[in-house]
Parts: sequence; C-alpha cells; structure tokens
Amino acid sequence: MERTLSIIKPDGVKKNIIGEIIKRFEDNNIKIIAMKKIQLTKTQAQGFYAVHKERPFFDSLTSFMTSGPIVVMILKGENVIAENRKLMGATNFKEAEQGTIRRDFATDIEKNVVHGSDAPETALFEIGYFFNAMEIVG
Ligand code: GDP
Repeated sequence: MERTLSIIKPDGVKKNIIGEIIKRFEDNNIKIIAMKKIQLTKTQAQGFYAVHKERPFFDSLTSFMTSGPIVVMILKGENVIAENRKLMGATNFKEAEQGTIRRDFATDIEKNVVHGSDAPETALFEIGYFFNAMEIVG
C-alpha cells in the first residue's frame, strides 16, 4: 500500500467539485486517510513548490495557490501515486485524456484543479508538509 498527497486547488474548491473529485478517488478504490480545508500563505505556497522556484510561472502559481481555500488529502491505495496521476490527467488539460479530472474541469495550464505527488520521495515530503501523525487515520 502506498500513500500520496492530493490537493484540490482553489479553482476546484470555487467550482464546487470537491465531492465530484473525491467520488472519483472512491470509485477507484482509493481511501482518504487524512483531509483538511486550509488557505495557504504565500510563504507556505513557496515552500511547497520550492522545486519550481526557478520557473517563470513560480510567482503566478504561488499567488494562485493562495487565492482561496484548498483541500489537502492523503490518499492510500495500491500504486496510488501513479493511479492518482492517471485520474488527474496531464498538467496541460488540453493534452489530458478524456474523462480525467483536469480534462473535465481545468480552466488553463495553471488552474488545473488538482495536485498529486509524482514520486515516493515527493509524496513523503508533501505529506509531511501538511500533516502530522495524529491527523492520519488508516
Ligand atoms: P503537475 O505535477 O502535473 O502538477 O505539474 P508540474 O509539477 O510541472 O507543475 C506544477 C503546477 O504548476 C501545475 O500543476 C500547474 O498548476 C502549474 N504550471 C505548470 N506549468 C505551467 C505553465 O507553463 N504556466 C503556468 N502559469 N503554470 C504552470
């Protein structure tokens, strides 16, 4: 069993599709073992996306991520890092497969509804960024 961090970004929360996204996880036998709704500060967003700090879109991305509440979750399941990335679809929703979350709901390459860890090391870092052991059940 593997764990990954999922975020419903501010655009997803504003579009009222928290339930829709969670349903896709549950329909695919993915368990939610921690969840909370929070609003990031700019510093917290910059820390989370530190690997992207040299990218031209870093400032825009971190502003967007602080623009409203987000829902952060730890997902658990077999091969869940890759499974979640498959359900999310490609970063650019125009390249994402039909039926993926981003293809169905993204606005543009930045406002793409969801985040998901891309590897076991990033999942570990990202889970620890948002949750402590007492907040994780299951
Ligand atoms: P992900 O793993 O699919 O989320 O993609 P990345 O790690 O490459 O990028 C992180 C996030 O930055 C993406 O989910 C988008 O919200 C945003 N992003 C990626 N590429 C671009 C871009 O070219 N322009 C802008 N404005 N945002 C981008």
